[in-house]
Amino acid sequence: MSKKVAIIGSGFSALAASCYLSKEGFQVDVYEKNGTVGGRARQMTKQGFTFDMGPSWYWMPDIFERFFKDFGKSTSDYYELDRLSPAYKIFFQDDVITIGDSLDKICEEFERIEPGSSGALKRFIDKARRNYEIAIDEIVYRPGISPLELVTKDTVLRVDQFFKNISGEVRKQFKNPKLIATLEFPVLFLGAKPSNTPAFYSFMNYADFGLGTWHPKGGMYKIIEGMRSLAEELGVQFHTNHNVDGIVVTNGKATGIKTEDKHIDADMVLSGADYHHTESLLEEPLRQFSESYWSKKTFAPSSLLFYIGFDKKLDNIEHHNLFFDTDFEKHATEIYDTPSWPSDPLFYANFPSVTDLSMAPASCETGFFLVPIAPGLEDTPELREQYFDIIIKRFQDRTGQSVENNIIFRESFCVKDFVEQYNSYKGNAYGMANTLTQTAFLRPGLKSKKVRDLYFTGQLTVPGPGVPPSLISGKLVSELMSKKR
Ligand SMILES: Cc1cc2nc3c(=O)[nH]c(=O)nc-3n(C[C@H](O)[C@H](O)[C@H](O)COP(=O)(O)OP(=O)(O)OC[C@H]3O[C@@H](n4cnc5c(N)ncnc54)[C@H](O)[C@@H]3O)c2cc1C
Repeated sequence: MSKKVAIIGSGFSALAASCYLSKEGFQVDVYEKNGTVGGRARQMTKQGFTFDMGPSWYWMPDIFERFFKDFGKSTSDYYELDRLSPAYKIFFQDDVITIGDSLDKICEEFERIEPGSSGALKRFIDKARRNYEIAIDEIVYRPGISPLELVTKDTVLRVDQFFKNISGEVRKQFKNPKLIATLEFPVLFLGAKPSNTPAFYSFMNYADFGLGTWHPKGGMYKIIEGMRSLAEELGVQFHTNHNVDGIVVTNGKATGIKTEDKHIDADMVLSGADYHHTESLLEEPLRQFSESYWSKKTFAPSSLLFYIGFDKKLDNIEHHNLFFDTDFEKHATEIYDTPSWPSDPLFYANFPSVTDLSMAPASCETGFFLVPIAPGLEDTPELREQYFDIIIKRFQDRTGQSVENNIIFRESFCVKDFVEQYNSYKGNAYGMANTLTQTAFLRPGLKSKKVRDLYFTGQLTVPGPGVPPSLISGKLVSELMSKKR
């Protein structure tokens, strides 16, 4: 008889793991507390507007393709991809940088800002490409069990890049502050300050300028729908509105889970919920990490989000827009060093209906605004309102239009919602940052050291935050669990 696996949560990592485990012959059931699957990547539809509630940047298309290929499928079996052109736009105080869909176009833009910089950019991206190949071929698909996983001929040759930070490397080669901010942006996806992120992670710059920015027609949720369909084709059963409130341990072994009204037996338990929360479902002596451990870790930011329906098409915007028109360093300090509401925030605005008309009613625009903030901050309706006023005014000034009277509705989402809806530690938006001391085997592991047959996946474990790493995390944990059989 096939072994039963109970999976807690239905984010990208849990969905990926459910597919791999089912393919390996396990009987897989997914228990999700919310009414829909997808975790932080849920979608909200309202009055004809469609909002991806979390991820909106589709980077590293090769990782998505590799996932579906493992099942003899392709992304095109489940969704249609467009390469965005331009990829995105960055608003500064006195200029706007447009990132095109090819390195040649981006070089032209760099030359416009800093004459002579395109040569340095080509060399930088070439090194980043090699780092990307090494990261994918030799590092990220490793389970984070031993430090030796990081030791390869290629990494040894580049060991200095693990001890230098990306901020320093960028500054050695570029002098213009706008180009520096542009090149520091991609590593923000890893959750830490560029000055606290190893130079080797420049592979994110290759993901950005080399591999491009894509959009699944209908939104990022199409990926979740595709993965759910694949999982169901493979025999996975989904149970939404099932909040797991305990992991059952018998003689040091996970033997099932508890929901409000059910006790569900399983041979193995896998949690794709936030690691910290999962451990809270165990008796204290069975937890691997103390509260003090978690409190010392660098977490990725939380976010203040606004989902807005506009009753007109907006001017001077692209699908993805970064507003880097204030002091980047100061905002980063307010996120990581002295956690506080930012005095003059940078923000991101996403308008998927610019390139995908299915995301909004005719002649309307779907808008998603994101302000990164420190996790664990006080979150009140007044603060949300105050920041809405700040960013909408800045948005109007920078894009040269009035939009305040064109808002049909708006909803916000912040620290409290991350905690209530996803059981997120301090309301983090995208997990535990990837810094030198929080990478690979130094992250919380995929397998419990205290409870047999209890496993973890997702953005707080290996390899780290973001959608592509979550897909990889699901694969890695299912390989460990399959070996165990
Ligand atoms: C606003 C925002 C923007 C982002 N932008 C990007 C982007 O552009 N590109 C990118 O690649 N990444 C982005 N990310 C990061 C990316 O979304 C995440 O890294 C990824 O989705 C995390 O997936 P996960 O598998 O770790 O689980 P999660 O998505 O965290 O899912 C965990 C699931 O577990 C469920 N759960 C929790 N507790 C229980 C319980 N007790 N019982 C049952 N179920 C439970 C939760 O409800 C949730 O569904 C963004 C994240 C956010 C929040």
